[in-house]
Amino acid sequence: MKLSVIGTGYVGLVTGTCFSDLGNDVTCIDVNQAKVDGLKKGIIPIYEPGLSELVLRNYEEGRLKFTTKASEAVPEADVVYIAVGTPQSDTGAADLSAVWKVVEDIAPHLKEDALVVVKSTVPVGTNAKVFSQLKELTGRECNVASNPEFLKEGSAIDDFMYPDRVVCGVRNKKSEDMLRQLHAPLLRTAKPILFMSPESSELTKYAANAMLATKISFINEIANLSEKVGADINDVRVGMGHDQRIGFQFLFPGLGYGGSCFPKDVRALTSLSETLDLEPRIMRAVDDVNVHQRASLVRKIDAYYGGKIAGKTFGIWGLAFKPKTDDIREAPALDLLQYLVEKEAKILVHDPEAMENVQAMFGDKIHKYCENVMDAVEGVDCLAINTEWNEYRTPDFAQLKTKMKEKVIFDGRNLFDLEDMEKTGFSYFSIGRRSLE
Ligand code: NAD
Repeated sequence: MKLSVIGTGYVGLVTGTCFSDLGNDVTCIDVNQAKVDGLKKGIIPIYEPGLSELVLRNYEEGRLKFTTKASEAVPEADVVYIAVGTPQSDTGAADLSAVWKVVEDIAPHLKEDALVVVKSTVPVGTNAKVFSQLKELTGRECNVASNPEFLKEGSAIDDFMYPDRVVCGVRNKKSEDMLRQLHAPLLRTAKPILFMSPESSELTKYAANAMLATKISFINEIANLSEKVGADINDVRVGMGHDQRIGFQFLFPGLGYGGSCFPKDVRALTSLSETLDLEPRIMRAVDDVNVHQRASLVRKIDAYYGGKIAGKTFGIWGLAFKPKTDDIREAPALDLLQYLVEKEAKILVHDPEAMENVQAMFGDKIHKYCENVMDAVEGVDCLAINTEWNEYRTPDFAQLKTKMKEKVIFDGRNLFDLEDMEKTGFSYFSIGRRSLE
């Protein structure tokens, strides 16, 4: 099929590239000229494992193209995917301005029988509004479906190619048939493609993200309780997870969730419920717990030093909101950096992929952006860990001792075993476990 994918961010670029790899003729469209120019030269704007090779291969073989102009590709397209950002607005609701801009841009170019697919995460009722907006602009009833995306940054290609399920909101059989045909190569392992109303599909996406966010906030609340009552959250987590009704996934305590999806999607669901005069009590609490949890290391560090941070040197490992991505949107590391900057600390940072993004925000307020992990602990008063990148999991503690000025570690991701840490002689503070002082 011929596809246009509008928006070349984490979702659009992965969607377009994967569909081209499956043999479709795909054009990715983005308003960002620099991004499009870069992509044509093989420069991938985001870090996502495996993406670069896949983009280059399909681009070179002519199945994947890039442009800034809807007019260059949409007139030919059988399917037009809308995959632009839907960030949080000031009210907490999703900001759909990019979606409406795309609808305006594509309307004059759509083929009579083209299928428009909303892939962006959008509030319930958006599909219906896209349908009516296109009717007004084109004078005819266009095919509009919804196909929310469930991929995770860091494993986006695998998630896209081997989905647990594909959810499609459709209005007619023709749209269903086209989506079934397009996804057939992804569903060879008998994973389901689920057809439902556009409204149900829109709500499914928010409900799934909100459920996962709820698990994270829940375990973090239990972790904070563990600290106070002398329990070990790791034992509690394992004891709970073996219950098959609960399971282990999304039950890791830490600094809470971040990124471009969970925070904004929980708030958008809250906002939608409020506009309908409902009381989204669980959602409010999930967000509230998370905002509090993100600042866990700030509170622990502040308490340890009695607020006297000025002039101390901090080594920071991990800036991205999770491993295997360069994404720092709503990353807990930002809370810690902001606090340390305000307190006039000297800061050294390391992250395998996210330093450029942090540099764009903090510039020279951070003393040193270190390419090497161990350079970020040279002469520091303490080390703080925000992201569970694999390369932080088994450091050489003997080397750490020689490099660091003081032997103090604040670990927001519980990377190290408490008994092992006791033997190293470090002061060690983690989440939901006893402190080693
Ligand atoms: P993103 O911010 O990384 O990318 C959005 C892209 O859209 C940008 O490149 C931007 O330049 C482009 N754009 C904006 N307006 C445009 C316009 N009018 N025409 C063409 N291009 C335009 O966003 P993302 O993370 O890829 O998310 C996209 C959507 O998918 C969001 O609704 C998000 O909630 C959802 N989603 C994201 C993820 C994720 O892990 N990032 C997972 C599932 C769903």
